Amino acid sequence: MKIPQSILNALTDVDMPRLNAEPELDKTIRINDYEVPVHQTGCLVVGSGAAGLRAAVEAKRRNADVTIISQSAWGGTSACSGSDKQTLHTANTADQGDNFKEMARSIRAGGAMDEDTAYIEAVGSTRAMASLQYLGLPLPQDDLGGTLRYQTDHDEVGRATSCGPRTSRLMVQVLAKEAIQLDIAFFNHTTAIKVLTEGEGDTKRVSGLLAIRPRLQTDANPLGLIIFQCAALVIAAGGPGELYRDSVFPNSCFGTLGLALETGLELVNITESQFGIGTRREGFPWNLSGTYVQVIPHIYSVDEDGIEHHFLGDYYRTTQEMASNIFRKGYQWPFHATRMLDFQSSLVDLAIVLENQKGRRVLMDFNRNPLAVPGDRPFSLDRLDDDVSVYLQNAGATQEMPIERLLHMNPLAIELYARYKVDIKNDPLEFAVNNQHMNGGIAVDSWGRTNIAGIYAIGEASGTHGVTRPGGSALNAGQVFGTRVGEHIGASGKASEPASTDVADAARRAMKDIQSVLQFESDLTVKSLRADIQARMSDQAGVLCFARDVRDAYGDAKSLNAKIRDKGISAMRDSEIVRVLQWQQMALASEAVLAALDHYISEGGGSRGARAICDSDGDSLPQSAHGPLEDIRFRSEKDEHKNEQLIVRMVGHQMQVSSQPIRRFDESAKSFFERDWPAWLTGEIFDTV
Ligand SMILES: Cc1cc2nc3c(=O)[nH]c(=O)nc-3n(C[C@H](O)[C@H](O)[C@H](O)COP(=O)(O)OP(=O)(O)OC[C@H]3O[C@@H](n4cnc5c(N)ncnc54)[C@H](O)[C@@H]3O)c2cc1C
Repeated sequence: MKIPQSILNALTDVDMPRLNAEPELDKTIRINDYEVPVHQTGCLVVGSGAAGLRAAVEAKRRNADVTIISQSAWGGTSACSGSDKQTLHTANTADQGDNFKEMARSIRAGGAMDEDTAYIEAVGSTRAMASLQYLGLPLPQDDLGGTLRYQTDHDEVGRATSCGPRTSRLMVQVLAKEAIQLDIAFFNHTTAIKVLTEGEGDTKRVSGLLAIRPRLQTDANPLGLIIFQCAALVIAAGGPGELYRDSVFPNSCFGTLGLALETGLELVNITESQFGIGTRREGFPWNLSGTYVQVIPHIYSVDEDGIEHHFLGDYYRTTQEMASNIFRKGYQWPFHATRMLDFQSSLVDLAIVLENQKGRRVLMDFNRNPLAVPGDRPFSLDRLDDDVSVYLQNAGATQEMPIERLLHMNPLAIELYARYKVDIKNDPLEFAVNNQHMNGGIAVDSWGRTNIAGIYAIGEASGTHGVTRPGGSALNAGQVFGTRVGEHIGASGKASEPASTDVADAARRAMKDIQSVLQFESDLTVKSLRADIQARMSDQAGVLCFARDVRDAYGDAKSLNAKIRDKGISAMRDSEIVRVLQWQQMALASEAVLAALDHYISEGGGSRGARAICDSDGDSLPQSAHGPLEDIRFRSEKDEHKNEQLIVRMVGHQMQVSSQPIRRFDESAKSFFERDWPAWLTGEIFDTV
């Protein structure tokens, strides 16, 4: 059926609502020589992505006094990125109903994930989805009201659904409309820089936050600082997209890992990221999963003399094997070390990485079917592995050319690139293996609480995922934990009034730190830091990791931070002050990731998730059509590492890495209404004392 252009437009061009007027700032406090405006609130949410907006709305509905601040109201990954499989978990599948325990097992299947978190996300997914539908999210249904579903990464039964390439932006849209309707205070273009705390050790708790808001820059407040006093702080600032050069994150995603380390917050699982094929953020950052590869385009490389290379023909043994594995990247999108073995789908990613390392550009062409593997028969839709041909036949995708199959299966996929002036109907598309998601982050308990009282973390800022995550579970986790954090803040009653704790001392300390970073004569700049950190992370801590490279990279990251402490960073202009501070914190985040990775490898850690730990003594050897790939020999994962997590904290200037067992969940425990109802009625379930 041909879908009218107006429908395609509505699903790709998603307008955002107009924000309410910002609150007046009626108070200032003197910090050193500066007059700094203050806003008092009960609960401060940092970030207006899908996770932050969800927490804000849920907390406000439970009578909390809520304020949102955001670096950019419609920035971040929820609003600006996605893929044609932007998904949410549905809890009913395969037409047989689902089982939350089964779903939880699938969410945590990659290991290193808290079992209670996986169950919380499974059981909370129906509510997350239904409430978004109530707010107006147009999730697709059949004529009897069932949700249309399909299979995605790390999902064996088909628990995903989607409203097209802009699903997460649509989520932001409906949640933002709700936040506006609830009259939640919102400060746009306001970037969190330092968390303010009071007390020490076990009594340490949040008292506020120092942010920069360029429009507040005056002679009396030259940095444009603003202080928020709050009793509860929700960190929902997304993932550290700027950490890698090769990245499919939208531009300017810094996350808050460095800020968290400086605050004394613990980070968990930060060795775990997702990498996969996509177009980079220098152009239009987008994942090439789902139908882009399921239509089986021709993938090739071009060297500096403009000569084309049919490189996948060197890796797979037959045309059928190569074509079927290109198709499988649709739902086996993230690179996974073990899928390099036995001619599986991650051999495609490996081949692309090695081609890029030779200095060649890699492209996919929707106007050509894959060329034959040398010596084998040509590509034919009649010669594909069974799972592939059944899928294509069910989808009616039997047209001759990939572009015709794409037009038939997912016209939005073409439309989307067209919006960014990329015409995949006619031109080949350049792409690469990119960093896409941070699975780890700030460590939280089952209510989204961090190790510092009053501070919560949700969405990609938090470390709720394990080594792998089913496609769509990032958005689901943000919605489920956003809801729980809102519930918890409401139940605690601590954020129902604007906070008035004295923050002057904490702000003075924070100001001193900021001033020591901003050194206008330093030779370190935003540009030099960005180039240095991103190259190190992409070249030495990407999908192929070698112990020595990681150790060297960790040493270099430590030296960089020592240099920053010694010399500071110079801002070229006033408008760069925020970026200077974000890059200083990114340098810390990079050191923390490398410290954890180095620790993991030195403890004998093997390949898991998106990273192959290459080792000439490794027990796993990928093969190509021409024989073994000895340079990529890798270690397999140790079983015991599945049951523990790496925690990183900054003590003084040192990153301390330790391991802790995952939290367990007793699958046999059953709730019982009369026994458990009182804990709900009295609020005991929230464990707020
Ligand atoms: C290409 C791509 C495809 C993806 N596809 C999927 C998918 O199909 N399914 C899925 O589940 N997940 C997917 N993800 C991951 C998912 O989109 C993200 O994990 C999720 O959107 C994160 O939401 P969030 O609310 O935590 O953060 P974000 O949406 O990134 O929002 C962060 C917010 O914080 C603000 N902010 C940042 N720093 C500061 C600061 N210091 N001070 C104040 N504000 C700040 C930003 O302006 C923004 O408003 C994909 C990611 C990418 C990059």
